[in-house]
Amino acid sequence: MSEKAIICVDDHENILNSIGEQLKRAFGDEYIIELASSGRETIELFADLIAEEVEIPLIISDQNMEAISGDKLLIQLHDLYPQTLKILLTGQTDAEVIRNLVNVSALYRYLAKPWDETDLILTVTEALRCYDQNQQLKAQNELLLETNQKLAESLTLLVATLEATADGILVINNRGQVIRCNQKLLNLWGIAESVSSTKDYDQIIDLALQQVAKPYTCNLERQETASNYHNYSLLELKNGKILECYYQTQQIQDLSISTVWSFRDVTAKQQAEQTIKHQAFHDALTGLANRSLFDRKLALELSKSEQSQSKLAVLFLDLDHFKNINDTLGHAVGDLLLQAVVKRLLYGVREGDMIARWGGDEFTLLLLHIESLQEATAITQRILQALQSPFDLEGYHLHVTSSIGIAIYPDHGTDSDTLLKNADAALYKAKDRGRNNYQHYNQTLNSQGEKILKLENKLGYALKNQEFTLYYQPIVDVTTGTITKMEALLRWRHPKLGLISPNIFIPLAEENGLIVPIGEWVLEQACLQNKYWQQIRVTPLKIAVNLSPRQFQESDLIDKIINILQTTGLPTSCLELEITETLTIDNCQIAKNVLTKFKEMGISLAMDDFGTGYSSLSYLKQFPFSTLKIDRSFINNLLGDPEDQAIIKAMISLGQGLGISIVAEGVETKEVQDFLQSLGCRYMQGYYFSRPVAAESATQMLQNKALLRAD
Ligand code: C2E
Ligand code: CA
Ligand code: CA
Repeated sequence: MSEKAIICVDDHENILNSIGEQLKRAFGDEYIIELASSGRETIELFADLIAEEVEIPLIISDQNMEAISGDKLLIQLHDLYPQTLKILLTGQTDAEVIRNLVNVSALYRYLAKPWDETDLILTVTEALRCYDQNQQLKAQNELLLETNQKLAESLTLLVATLEATADGILVINNRGQVIRCNQKLLNLWGIAESVSSTKDYDQIIDLALQQVAKPYTCNLERQETASNYHNYSLLELKNGKILECYYQTQQIQDLSISTVWSFRDVTAKQQAEQTIKHQAFHDALTGLANRSLFDRKLALELSKSEQSQSKLAVLFLDLDHFKNINDTLGHAVGDLLLQAVVKRLLYGVREGDMIARWGGDEFTLLLLHIESLQEATAITQRILQALQSPFDLEGYHLHVTSSIGIAIYPDHGTDSDTLLKNADAALYKAKDRGRNNYQHYNQTLNSQGEKILKLENKLGYALKNQEFTLYYQPIVDVTTGTITKMEALLRWRHPKLGLISPNIFIPLAEENGLIVPIGEWVLEQACLQNKYWQQIRVTPLKIAVNLSPRQFQESDLIDKIINILQTTGLPTSCLELEITETLTIDNCQIAKNVLTKFKEMGISLAMDDFGTGYSSLSYLKQFPFSTLKIDRSFINNLLGDPEDQAIIKAMISLGQGLGISIVAEGVETKEVQDFLQSLGCRYMQGYYFSRPVAAESATQMLQNKALLRAD
């Protein structure tokens, strides 16, 4: 606590001392009593004391002094030290002077000379109390001022924060009136400036409520809840925005704030989450469900079927020769084809069924509420049918077939894994049966396909181990009933799995390159066989050997063939190479050169599986083919399908025009033979004449014409 002083000033020494004595007696304990004999001395005294941080609550001044009168002194001091209380001591009372002093220097009191001591002490006591009160009040004022300033600062900060936040904020009091909202809130809800400037918050809330599109869990209406609680929810607005809203109800009595709402635009975040979720369960290319989603759905439907005792079907579908298209026309076309295929698949199934992309060109289908195996079969046939007509993509005319395996719950399995495994096994059977067909699972079908996949790397071993063998199927001139060619068809006689179809292992061999040595072995074997047949026959016979496009990638293909022909001694005119049209499109110029070379050597060339590829008929003219083999997928349903009939008619007349002989593959019945013959088709191949058979049987067939059913 600082010291305090009372100053007395009078130019009469006696008077000054007397006052001093009296004051010291009364206040000496608490106050320093300072005496001054002139105005100037007083001013200096003030300055000194203040410099020493002494407080001066009171000055008592004589009025009549020589150099400077009391009233002037007090006015001067008031300017410098306004808080010091002033008492004037005067002999003659001049009312004018006093009034002036009261006005100008806030004179506290005046005392007449001579004074009564008690009067003086009381007046001074009162003045000192007044001073103390003033000081307290001043301190309080300062504090208040400071607090106010701080409050104003935090309010500015609060408003700035409110406006700077990413959220839309709405503050409602406990009477349900909106106290405040920020600009973000208006933006989020699309509330016009004009509305917000009216500060009619009821209207704001009404407008906001009109924007809500989806039923929402958060209650925007006024709340009269007492307890403090908070909640969170999402709302969707009519403009598509998704808002995350969070509200906290508080009971702050004094401020009467009830609820603070904050709204955040989470549209982008929600969309991203949706996308991620979708991506996790869908295939990006086709938009179909992926494996995970299919698995989930299957598990769910199985438990439902178990309860309702209904059947369902799981289908495994694989596009035949898809890899060829991808490899030769590029992935972009492959992708387009997959998308187009999916469109047709979706068209083929019923509402509620599911199609998933299992990977690559493999799809799984889930058919619900199947009454019987027949019903599943009918849908499957519809799907095969839907894929039958060609796809026009990027200027290519693509013909696609597929193989489908079917497993039924509960007949072929009661859990997902078994059903999928069995549908897969059935798919392999379908491929084994020559593709473009479907098969049901049955008990005897062990999952051969699965095992074969595991055996992929044993293919090389199969070659060394002489597990391959060639079968031969005649190509017949139906006008004479004679065999004009034999097609060599490869078989893998696996020690454990038995005879495996080339439809299954050739794609594997093409993938790992083993088709090159295997193909070489086939050529040599076939040439040897035909050399033998030349010796026992009068009329020369052509041996037709299938070449994989992969073999054309080997630069020494021609040399190898020359070499084989030389070592086996087979005339070049007795060899025909069957090539699928994919080859001619892929690397067209190289293919043209190689094929021309073959032609020059005297080897004939057949275009295999014609119609399943994508080259136009006129495209053919560029290549030196002497034979065109119409794919058996056209022949299969020929009798019931006017479209296929038209295609075949066109092919036959084209062949005649170009001087190319036409072979119809896959002739299975007399009716088909007759029909084709009526169209002018001369050469045919198919089970109706003979299945592919082992070499000895083929030899017998060649020796015994009667075996052939041709006219
Ligand atoms: P591909 O060249 O179209 O051979 C004809 C296929 O049709 C043979 O199947 C044959 O058994 C079958 N087939 C013949 N007549 C009929 C019939 O009346 N009805 C039905 N449904 N099918 C008939 P395979 O022997 O299973 O051969 C399948 C495919 O494997 C061949 O189709 C060919 O692309 C390929 N392939 C076979 N051997 C070789 C080979 O040595 N090298 C190469 N690169 N591919 C081969
Ligand atoms: Ca062939
Ligand atoms: Ca063929």
